[in-house]
Amino acid sequence: MNIILLGPPGAGKGTQARRLVEEHGMVQLSTGDMLRAAKTSGTEMGNKVAEVMARGDLVTDDIVIGLISEQLDGEAGQHGLIFDGFPRTLAQADALGKLLDEKGKTLDSVVEMKVDDDALVDRISGRFTCSKCGEVYHDTTKPTAKEGVCDVCGSTEFTRRADDNPDSVRVRLMAYYRSTAPLIGYYHAKGKLVSVDGLGEIDTVAADIKQGLGL
Ligand code: ADP
Ligand code: ADP
Ligand code: ZN
Repeated sequence: MNIILLGPPGAGKGTQARRLVEEHGMVQLSTGDMLRAAKTSGTEMGNKVAEVMARGDLVTDDIVIGLISEQLDGEAGQHGLIFDGFPRTLAQADALGKLLDEKGKTLDSVVEMKVDDDALVDRISGRFTCSKCGEVYHDTTKPTAKEGVCDVCGSTEFTRRADDNPDSVRVRLMAYYRSTAPLIGYYHAKGKLVSVDGLGEIDTVAADIKQGLGL
């Protein structure tokens, strides 16, 4: 099964993607994670995207389409895929449709995660991630069981994203409403859209997604 997790920044896409990976052996393709990896690689592309991401704007379509295309050609292409944070524009959605067609794959469902803006700002402000395994935590809604120690891998190193600040969040929300929200109508028209309330507890949202996908 190949799915898209669609929702504003902080909606819980990464958190739910990791659940699906653990419980259903799917593969998470996060363009945000790929871009952050490119950013630290010191390549020309990495330097170009760093500034755009810090501001909260979208990087160009050809860069992210290129990254996804590489993944589909590689090992990831053999598994059930979760597109997390991609597509974010209509041009990316069209490109994804073409890429999947070329590889004889189908898009099964697009899960829209609905969360209101106030909750998004709270979620993004409290987000931190294990530097070693990537587990996503939150200061109040999902703290580590033992302070300063990752529940999953035991690491004591965590990172907070430089773009998780109020200025960047405002720009990211605007980019979402302007460029990404139109994809809700696009996939609804294709009969692929499943909408879930993203405001509940992590377990409740996970159960709603599974039900929506028939898992
Ligand atoms: P969030 O967790 O806020 O949804 P991501 O980790 O998905 O954020 O993305 C972080 C940043 O990377 C975005 O603000 C944007 O600059 C860039 N980015 C990620 N995915 C895309 C994409 N599909 N198209 C354009 N830019 C992207
Ligand atoms: P996205 O990938 O959509 O940007 P994340 O999965 O990184 O979102 O989640 C953003 C923040 O909100 C993280 O700190 C995460 O721990 C927290 N979070 C995710 N889902 C929920 C939820 N259902 N309830 C409360 N907090 C959540
Ligand atoms: Zn960890």
